[in-house]
Amino acid sequence: MKATRREFLAATAVTLGTLPHLRAADTERKKLVLIAGTPSHGPGDHEFNAGVRLLAKCLEGVKELEVVTVLNGYPKDEKVFDGAAGILCYADGGGGHPLIRDKRLAFIDGLMKKGVGLMCGHFGVEVPKDIGAKEMREWIGGCYEHEFSCNPMWSPEFKTFPDHPISRGVKPFSVRDEWYFNMRFREGMKGVTPILTAVPLDTVRDGPYVYPKGPYKHIQEAKGKNQAETMMWAADRPDGGRGVGFSGGHVHRNWGNESFRKVVLNALLWICKVEVPKDGVESKVTEDDLKANLDPKGKK
Ligand SMILES: [Zn+2]
Repeated sequence: MKATRREFLAATAVTLGTLPHLRAADTERKKLVLIAGTPSHGPGDHEFNAGVRLLAKCLEGVKELEVVTVLNGYPKDEKVFDGAAGILCYADGGGGHPLIRDKRLAFIDGLMKKGVGLMCGHFGVEVPKDIGAKEMREWIGGCYEHEFSCNPMWSPEFKTFPDHPISRGVKPFSVRDEWYFNMRFREGMKGVTPILTAVPLDTVRDGPYVYPKGPYKHIQEAKGKNQAETMMWAADRPDGGRGVGFSGGHVHRNWGNESFRKVVLNALLWICKVEVPKDGVESKVTEDDLKANLDPKGKK
């Protein structure tokens, strides 16, 4: 039977209305590149490979993101960064930091100048004072400085959070981790918003820290002063790019804590300029998930 003109128009409208929408959704997906560092510790610690795979799994429901994982260190082919909106570097840092070695510092700086977001996790927030520290402050607002910052194992009580998209849905929590503090931030904390803050007990300031054991006089001098320290922060760059530093992430099992996980997942959206849901990124992690993909036992 011949379709009436009205029916024909309605069918056409549906077709035309749907296709551009699908096309737009595809092109609007932001690419997030998760880089996992090489194994360096015993089982359960610095599980960068398992960590990024867990985070990627938790982000599967975020339609606005296309997540690409790079395991076992810096990508062999830098083409993986083509079109990236954000990068996570969850890896050992210091002199071997994946983003500063060889000619990478200039390459990554070029990406940052284009507005690509960057988040560094755990040891990944540390670079040598004279190689990459200036850039890290520009990229993510601050970095760990050897013998200025410290790295005790402790359990900060995160009780209140700033009015910031990364805080959405995050509830008070406390987990024991190697939470570094006393970062070397940008002058006057310009453009830097502390996200996770807590007051260390005097016994934490007294050490021992993980390495070097300390204690440092300048860390101890704040004892009894109720001085909050920053373990996670968000930074806006003058050109609109975004950066985040997160000093936890030593202990793999901590990904099982919902708020610990949520604050990181929210941050990954935020650096890519994806709107963080009102209650934050929802995810579920099982005991099996926490045991999955761990680096081979005893690998150093
Ligand atoms: Zn560690």
